Amino acid sequence: MVQHRFLLVTFPAQGHINPSLQFAKHLVRTTGAHVTYVTSLSAHRRIGNGSTPHGLTYSLFSDGYDNGFTVGDDDDHYMSELKRRGAQAITDLIVSSAKEGRPYTCLIYTILLPWAAVAARELHLPSVLVWIQPATVFDIYYYYFSGRKDLIRSSTSTTHTNGALCSIELPGLPLSLASRDLPSFMVDSNPYGFALPLFEEQFELLERETKPIILVNTFDALEPEALKAIDKYNLIGIGPLVPSAFLDGKDPSDKSFRGDHFQKSEDSSYIEWLNSRPEGSVVYVSFGSISVLSKPQMEEIAKGLLDSRRPFLWVIREKEESNGQDKEVKKEEEKLSCREELEELGKIVPWCSQVEVLSSPSLGCFVTHCGWNSSLESLVSGVPVVAFPQWTDQGTNAKLIEDTWKIGVRVTPNDEGIVVGEELKRCLELVMGSGEIGEELRRNAKKWKGLAREAVSEGGSSDRNLKAFLDQIE
Ligand code: UDP
Repeated sequence: MVQHRFLLVTFPAQGHINPSLQFAKHLVRTTGAHVTYVTSLSAHRRIGNGSTPHGLTYSLFSDGYDNGFTVGDDDDHYMSELKRRGAQAITDLIVSSAKEGRPYTCLIYTILLPWAAVAARELHLPSVLVWIQPATVFDIYYYYFSGRKDLIRSSTSTTHTNGALCSIELPGLPLSLASRDLPSFMVDSNPYGFALPLFEEQFELLERETKPIILVNTFDALEPEALKAIDKYNLIGIGPLVPSAFLDGKDPSDKSFRGDHFQKSEDSSYIEWLNSRPEGSVVYVSFGSISVLSKPQMEEIAKGLLDSRRPFLWVIREKEESNGQDKEVKKEEEKLSCREELEELGKIVPWCSQVEVLSSPSLGCFVTHCGWNSSLESLVSGVPVVAFPQWTDQGTNAKLIEDTWKIGVRVTPNDEGIVVGEELKRCLELVMGSGEIGEELRRNAKKWKGLAREAVSEGGSSDRNLKAFLDQIE
């Protein structure tokens, strides 16, 4: 068997680092391969120097933003610097390792980095994309870029006379998609111009290969149709990419992604507090590592939580400093009006070990922005969801959560785009209450937890798929 040396490149954001680092650890553990994990200096600084398993090494490059990308920085400039400097770093690594007689055997790269594959191709190094969103989202992008853009946009842009949203069905996908279910970069209101061209470039690149393999952070039973919907691609489910201790238990010491970008709460008593609550009683609220909610939206969430009268753990990240603003003034501005009341009923932390929180028996519901990692982590923990999507793939993920896997209820914002407290309370009642809907959601969540574990167990679909992939690239 070939002793692989993988070069793994990822975008320096938490939601990209977590699954790719997990994949790197998995490759090292199960195949004895060597993985060089390439990311930016700023991302690595935030992660710190935590232990890495033997066989995994970091290689860092400066993306020109060594203190991190902050509010007010220019997206387009950042993305072009990342591309220029990242491609150079990859080229240097491939060339120098070949010179030293230890050539890389394959480049593995995640989304938003098509230039990484271009750099590898120029040096004749095979590359494979790890798609860290659902297969369904891959398919929607494919259809969008391969002739259906206008149809998708026009079919979903209006509302029926009865108030329902107009929707579209796409070949091979068992879903009816309204505009709120599409990746947000495709709709008119999208303010992030840099994203769609990167996805387009990615698809143009794949187009030049014959039936390329795409490794997807999903599993066969979760998206059977989406994985097979497009004949010209070989989408294979190798997930869920979640630390082993919370999934298959094969490596009980693997209890975190080991790539946290934020300081966890210094006071770890939140875990003890959580574990001392009755089974299924606690609401966990988190909007991931990027989304920033408006002050009125935060106040409404607070109202909904207080009115629900259920214990909760709410992650409110400290806002990153934007240029020139006084920290104390900012803190005061952001302070929730009912903070004291909130702290009587629940706990507010700046960051937590989410996989650990979700595995606590006391958890009853996850109010989530439906980032794909959070969605999968909830699924593998068997925790039902209140889906509160914000942007990018989250609307599609919320659709899958509510309509396909039936493990959650999606909030409906008002005309100003705010989810009011009453609406959050209504959804929490549905998910956590003793009614039929809650019972069904909890039953389904339990079922998916079992299926996720089956997929990664020895001989399970993700285990087989990964082995078949490794055989193929030998
Ligand atoms: N996360 C965490 N602690 C927190 C909040 C989030 O460890 O307090 C992790 C979470 O487990 C997940 C990642 O951060 O792996 C967020 O990724 P996701 O795709 O859900 O959302 P994004 O941050 O990319 O919007």
